[in-house]
Amino acid sequence: MGLDPLYRALLSSPKRVLTVSCPVRMDDGTIQVFTGYRVQHNNARGPFKGGLRFDPAVDRDEVMALAMLQTWKNALVDLPYGGAKGGVVCDIKTLSLGEKERLTRRYTAEVMPIIGPMDDIPAPDLGTDGQVMAWIMDTYSMMVGRQSLGVVTGKPVALGGSVGREEATGRGVMCVLKRFVETTQHGSLEGMKIAIQGFGQVGYHAARLLDELGAVIVGISDAFGGIYNEEGIDIEAAGLYYRERRQLTDFPGGDAITNEDLLTCECDVLIPAARENTLDANIAPHVQAKIVVEAANGPTTPEADEILRDLGITILPDILANAGGVTVSYFEWVQGLDNYFWDLTRVRGELQRVMDRAFDAVNAKADEADCDYRTAAYTIAIGRVVDAVRLKGLFP
Ligand code: GLU
Repeated sequence: MGLDPLYRALLSSPKRVLTVSCPVRMDDGTIQVFTGYRVQHNNARGPFKGGLRFDPAVDRDEVMALAMLQTWKNALVDLPYGGAKGGVVCDIKTLSLGEKERLTRRYTAEVMPIIGPMDDIPAPDLGTDGQVMAWIMDTYSMMVGRQSLGVVTGKPVALGGSVGREEATGRGVMCVLKRFVETTQHGSLEGMKIAIQGFGQVGYHAARLLDELGAVIVGISDAFGGIYNEEGIDIEAAGLYYRERRQLTDFPGGDAITNEDLLTCECDVLIPAARENTLDANIAPHVQAKIVVEAANGPTTPEADEILRDLGITILPDILANAGGVTVSYFEWVQGLDNYFWDLTRVRGELQRVMDRAFDAVNAKADEADCDYRTAAYTIAIGRVVDAVRLKGLFP
């Protein structure tokens, strides 16, 4: 990019890192102390914005990295936001609903000084959902003394959420892949063999929407393993099965495989939709797909990225491919501030417009600079943030 070293220095570390300690009364009467973080990377383009994850693997470095990725993602799809991320080190599988609520409310109280509808707006991520967002909104609203819809996004529709938010990340993944196939290969999704790692909110909806468009979903997996079926998996049945049991193990619609098998299975498109660093240098040489669509944040390690590129595999990078979620978060925030709510047709239409525009910009930049899509996406995103930082100048 020929980036001035000043901006590299300004943007390579977050603006604010808050660590909080959250004592929570457990159901058995004991008190457990949970560590949480909220990292605000940059707000040159607007309020800080990004997800909140509840996961045992959360640590300060991870949250810092994800906050920076969020800055680039929000800039790439041209939302008027900066980037942030939050996390709490906990295992939700071991928490009761009441414990999870008390933890959420205490975390909200602890990060209260730095969040707000015009300051920093959390949203769902790994281990959090609409219910967690509802508790955050309620806690914040109680503390400021007024109902505050704009403090979080990803809220349930009954509480000021947006229709289409739940499927939004998966829909964005579908839009980007479809646009890529149609514009650069003059092809269609019809009959394309797709394997998807992760069957949570992102993976499930991506699978469902791609299946609807005629793609053949040959592999799906969750944390415990997955299934493969060359003829295509019945995604609706798998969805029902997964919702009931919270795992795909023993789902009868295909052969049982490991997560490693899934990443290296025979397919045209591989969609990592779980967590970061799953495609590493050990796995990358064995990937058979021609296209990797990064539905998770940071699923490919830098070493794997190089290996995949050397193999001629096209990577549609995370900050482009999974930006549908935060885009509909933006729509939700706007609707809440306006007190005027859109219908599903409008949400889907505007999401597609944003994703198509972002893909076209990245594609054009990749052509112009003769580079891969990740480099092109970063060049555009960092360029936009740098423009805002430069125009604002230095205070005081
Ligand atoms: N957690 C999502 C992401 O990684 C959504 C963030 C948001 O909606 O603010 O992009």
